[in-house]
Amino acid sequence: MIHNMIRYLFINNSVLQIYSQLPQIEYPLDVNQVIALLPNCRFMTYDKFAEINNCSVDDVIQICESKTGCTHYEIDNNRYLILCNNGSMSNNSGRKRWTEAHEVGHIMCKHFEISAYSSLSENGFLVNNPKFESEADYFAATLLAPFPLYKLLNIQSAIDVQDMFGLSTEASLYRFKEYLRWKKGHRKTSWENDIINLYKLKGNILL
Ligand SMILES: [Zn+2]
Repeated sequence: MIHNMIRYLFINNSVLQIYSQLPQIEYPLDVNQVIALLPNCRFMTYDKFAEINNCSVDDVIQICESKTGCTHYEIDNNRYLILCNNGSMSNNSGRKRWTEAHEVGHIMCKHFEISAYSSLSENGFLVNNPKFESEADYFAATLLAPFPLYKLLNIQSAIDVQDMFGLSTEASLYRFKEYLRWKKGHRKTSWENDIINLYKLKGNILL
């Protein structure tokens, strides 16, 4: 079971760490603010990367092996470059946000370091690994739309998830379903309280 291998606690704590470093917490979350917290990480669109390297966006899609986004790891300098294809998602900010958060997830989960010398492709990209993809998705979901805040923010439907957190329609439906399951089966943890308290401190609504 892939799900059982996901490091939920580790990822929850990574999100908490990011929230504690953000100057303010506003939804939908601006992932560029999160990337700015990582000193060894830069962000670039496929368009810009193509322009700099004098190639086409189709070439970038081939290099990344993805139409949406990828991260390049420079192993010798321990530096990351997140590439996202904003052109192909120009009218879908939800998908853009998710792609960027997913790529930050790979970095925060240390998938590149774990893979270094074993399963990084020759040119420094991650080789597809289902566990890593699940972890990056769990990170993205928790970063962008954390369950502990749903009650406080009066989230009562997938539409509310979409309006508040700026996820795509599809991701919002899935996230709300997951929330209902989560709400049923969980006991309150200190992590939840920490997320709530940080939001009360740095959020943009009057409570
Ligand atoms: Zn991925």
